[in-house]
Amino acid sequence: MTPIRLAIVAPCYNEEDMLPISAPKLIALIDDLVAAGKIAPDSFLLFVNDGSRDRTWSIISDLHRRFPVCHGLDLSRNVGHQNAIMAGMISAVSAPESADAVITIDVDLQDPLECIPEMIDAYYAGSDVVYGVRSSRESDSFMKRFTAESFYKLQARLGLKTIYNHADFRFMTRRVILELEKYEERNLYLRGIIPMIGFPSSTVEEVRAEREAGETKYTLKKMLTLAFDGITSFSVTPIYGILAMGGIFILIAIAIGIYVIVSLVNGTAVHGWSSLMLSIWLVGGFILIAIGLVGLYVGKVYIETKHRPRYHIQTHLR
Ligand code: UDP
Ligand code: MG
Repeated sequence: MTPIRLAIVAPCYNEEDMLPISAPKLIALIDDLVAAGKIAPDSFLLFVNDGSRDRTWSIISDLHRRFPVCHGLDLSRNVGHQNAIMAGMISAVSAPESADAVITIDVDLQDPLECIPEMIDAYYAGSDVVYGVRSSRESDSFMKRFTAESFYKLQARLGLKTIYNHADFRFMTRRVILELEKYEERNLYLRGIIPMIGFPSSTVEEVRAEREAGETKYTLKKMLTLAFDGITSFSVTPIYGILAMGGIFILIAIAIGIYVIVSLVNGTAVHGWSSLMLSIWLVGGFILIAIGLVGLYVGKVYIETKHRPRYHIQTHLR
């Protein structure tokens, strides 16, 4: 069996502290895998600079100069983790780089490198997609662990076909990435799309490590955006929730109607200003929430119909 040409794609956003630590480890890993005959000698690393404002790109260019195995992709602005990964994967499998397979890994190496040989073994055993699954998140803060795990559970309840506790540490062959490219949506949520593509897949268990340097680049805002995208891009269950709420409101209205009629018949119907005010505000509030939720979907339709390009490459070192 000829060894595959592997590309390891790492998105980098303001990672000047982390990159000098991760790059030597990744280079050594590629060397070891080549020496072991698991991957082809022309395998490479592809660092994707996601519009960093610090020295990240100059570090990547320098790595490229010193180590031919390091390639770099400079995006013209910050497009976010998901789009940066997509840019890296597509460039890695397209000519002239033409990698046979890609592993995506965050540059902070919180997902352990030791899993990579296992992923490659799983490929030789017949998998097109190998998901890294976090079996332990001990190193994450309580809040991060709690919010992340609740989110994965909520997704499962809403009917998404996601892999529990899998983030974007993943092995994919070229043919799966070419299929992925056919998904034209701009609200990219890879963890939701990739299981939909199918192909033989397997998982490797990993223990998530702590970030060695630099801070998390996933601000609360970025995390919430990802969570909303993950749900509204794949599930219409929230709309059914609105329908159910509407039904309950009608039932309540009927009950109030009966109460009003009974009070009228009994001649006790004057008091009522407070209940009226309450209803107006409550119902108004719920209507606004409902309109807002529908608006989320309409907003998506609006963006999708534009078919805007997902990213623009500024420089491509190879
Ligand atoms: N990242 C990116 N663009 C962004 C935010 C993050 O490319 O807008 C990259 C970042 O450099 C890192 C990965 O995405 O390689 C995951 O980010 P981070 O480790 O900060 O997130 P966490 O592990 O805390 O969820
Ligand atoms: Mg991280």
